[in-house]
Amino acid sequence: MDLLEKSLMQFVPVESPCHVQLSGGEPTMVPDLIEETAKTLQKKRPHATLGIQTNATLLDRSLVRLFSKYNIQVGVSLDGPPDIQEQLRGNAAATLKGLKLLEAENVPFRVTTVISNRNIDCLDKLVLMLGGFSTARGIGLDLLIHKGNAATSSSVFPATPEQTADGINRMMTAFQMINRNRREKLELREEKTVTNAVRGKSPACFCHAGKGESLAVCPDGSLYPCSQTACDPRFFMGTLDNPNIVPAGLLREFALSTEDCGDCPLSGQCPGDCYSRQYFNHGENRELICTLYQTLFKLIRD
Ligand code: SF4
Repeated sequence: MDLLEKSLMQFVPVESPCHVQLSGGEPTMVPDLIEETAKTLQKKRPHATLGIQTNATLLDRSLVRLFSKYNIQVGVSLDGPPDIQEQLRGNAAATLKGLKLLEAENVPFRVTTVISNRNIDCLDKLVLMLGGFSTARGIGLDLLIHKGNAATSSSVFPATPEQTADGINRMMTAFQMINRNRREKLELREEKTVTNAVRGKSPACFCHAGKGESLAVCPDGSLYPCSQTACDPRFFMGTLDNPNIVPAGLLREFALSTEDCGDCPLSGQCPGDCYSRQYFNHGENRELICTLYQTLFKLIRD
């Protein structure tokens, strides 16, 4: 817990808004640390929020009650309905059991889905499946990043722009169908992003890391701009004992160029893409984020 206390002391003034996100690996492998983190935050930064990103395969009733007790925001990595989840991440039955436990204990959760050629056709089925969970709150879409398993896979690739537009259109139809009868609507994070952009409320950056407002702290105390860049020497920012915090900008050199935006209706209001995704993907498939935003823009406008 030294790591958390040291991080808070060094980088988070007592009254500043702050969110702590536990990710991995798989953070539910160490439930004691989750509770310790929650207790330390309550004591040292009572205004802070706490979130966890999990594959949900290790959830049991006590863990889910822990989430509820400390108001921990739950994100589940889920790439599709069970057959697709099984192919892409494995252990789908355990993940589904975890979702059912969250539902049974009335714990809200959101889903993060990595879009690829393997699941783009069944995003609508994912929405229909989540419609069966009253505590599901929404989905966030991440475009595939060429790192980890994705960098070496011979069968998982970025979806094409055509597949992406078609998949998103069908997904949004499923959202409409499901939300007709739901008290708590299921949301698509990117629809909100585009709606905000249309209303002129778009953030200047894709994420907090792009503005230098986030920090990933690894178990060995090394520091990086965000969890995506963690452990990549290119982004090393020292250690907790010897930090070398570069002002916002370490990631900015990888920002999506807006020179080619032409007459895109989102031009000037677009949050662009994840900077580290641009870096790891060497700028390839940059049009996919545009396809995603522009497809949603057309649906919102019409
Ligand atoms: S959606 Fe693409 S083309 Fe449109 S403003 Fe954003 S980056 Fe530029």
